[in-house]
Amino acid sequence: MQIELRGITKRFGAVAAVSDVDLTIRPGEVLALLGENGAGKSTLMNVLSGLYRPDEGSILLDGKAVQFAGAGDAIRAGIGMVHQHFMLVPVFTVAENVVLGVEPTAALDRLDLDAARRQVRSISARYGLDVDPDATIEGMPVGLQQRVEILKVLFRAAEAIVFDEPTAVLTPQEVTEFFAIVRELRDAGKAIVFITHKLQEVLAVADRISVLRAGRVVGTCDPKTATAAELARLMVGRPVRFAVDRPPLERGAPILEVEDLQVADERGERAVGGVTFSVHAGECVGIAGIHGNGQSELVEALTGMRRAVSGRIRLQGRDITHASARDCHRLGIAHVPEDRLRSGIIGTFDLGENVALNTYYEPRHASGIRLRWGEVYRSTARLIRDYDVRARSPLNPIGQLSGGNQQKLVIGRELSRDVALIVASQPTRGVDVGSIEYIHERFMEARSRGRGLIVVSTELDEILGLADRILVMFRGRVAGEFQDGAADIGNIGLAMAGAGA
Ligand code: ADP
Ligand code: MG
Repeated sequence: MQIELRGITKRFGAVAAVSDVDLTIRPGEVLALLGENGAGKSTLMNVLSGLYRPDEGSILLDGKAVQFAGAGDAIRAGIGMVHQHFMLVPVFTVAENVVLGVEPTAALDRLDLDAARRQVRSISARYGLDVDPDATIEGMPVGLQQRVEILKVLFRAAEAIVFDEPTAVLTPQEVTEFFAIVRELRDAGKAIVFITHKLQEVLAVADRISVLRAGRVVGTCDPKTATAAELARLMVGRPVRFAVDRPPLERGAPILEVEDLQVADERGERAVGGVTFSVHAGECVGIAGIHGNGQSELVEALTGMRRAVSGRIRLQGRDITHASARDCHRLGIAHVPEDRLRSGIIGTFDLGENVALNTYYEPRHASGIRLRWGEVYRSTARLIRDYDVRARSPLNPIGQLSGGNQQKLVIGRELSRDVALIVASQPTRGVDVGSIEYIHERFMEARSRGRGLIVVSTELDEILGLADRILVMFRGRVAGEFQDGAADIGNIGLAMAGAGA
């Protein structure tokens, strides 16, 4: 089935998330939809899959105009979407999930289920999915759950399948397996749309690439001839340097020493189960792993936001195991939090107020209990300049800035203090490629000045680019440790899946 999108525009209030997009999706072809965060990729595909109605434009299937009133219509027309967040019922089996599926219509009766089990088996065999219809979702590796989602759309006879950032949750090995499945589907004549912001993946699997920027298609390329640099320039609108310069390691005295640290999560379960490592001056330690393997709790314990159950944390020889967040901050730990909007900034406050949030007790910004607002705004203006924050004035609410610019201000605020250790959690999530480059350079600058750095990221490329040493976390433990240079992506991937040495 050939799909044509013609002049599609979708607005949210005054903002056009997608503007006048033309796109052809062909059977037997993998079309990559490449774009930065917020470019409009998901919105465009949600229009195609019937979740949103376009404000303007039309959808043609094999030349015939169609209108979808909802996801059900699109599915009946043969268009299936595998979303970023899976929609599976954990306590159900694969077959039960497949029957329930996208439309909440079919009641689970025996006949349906037996037929479904047979069909799951045959679809699974045909496309090399290797999924057992009677397995329960709960406890399944994420890569396998994704294949169940694929089964769900194939079960509904999808001719076109849209994958929204499918590799974000996968280990490198799972990504390879996923690509093999995508190729099977393509070779069977399905039309595939693969949404991503990762250049290398696009070059590996796509037959054609359309680049989206600010809601518009800014280019369509052939992966056989396109280069990563060209694609990045299209995505960002200017040239981008990829590898950040990392001068040779000059490892100084230990800054942070963590000994057999155990940390519990909200439910009181052990999220970090005995982790030991150290960070030295001038060294960047990367913490890799699939999201949810204890990294967040580890960072919270290191920055005083969560109490350690046992073990010890020392900062420059001083025991800070049970120090408060404020004390950690004062003693010289800068924290770039995972969730800016929860613990980094307040959206309705202006830029200066957000800078003051974390520095209000420093002598440069306060005398006694009085805040020196003049100084606060002067240093905010400096941060805006030094960290290339695209904002008109320190008096604008920070919520009006793009995610990348908010993050640059938070990083500027944290790095402008005189700290010993920087703990950055997912520092470039939701940040555009151009700003990522900038943020990485600032980290390397801090490293050169002898600060210790911890960068926690689920983006392996980011870790490989920055870290002198890589720790891979799996189920609350360090499942692998790799020195820079000896960091082999295959072995890191195995450790991420808990299968490391
Ligand atoms: P992408 O998938 O490329 O990251 P999205 O399609 O999610 O981008 O978003 C495109 C733009 O539309 C962004 O500016 C985003 O904030 C906005 N947007 C997306 N969904 C909604 C929504 N439901 N309501 C308001 N704005 C939205
Ligand atoms: Mg998206």
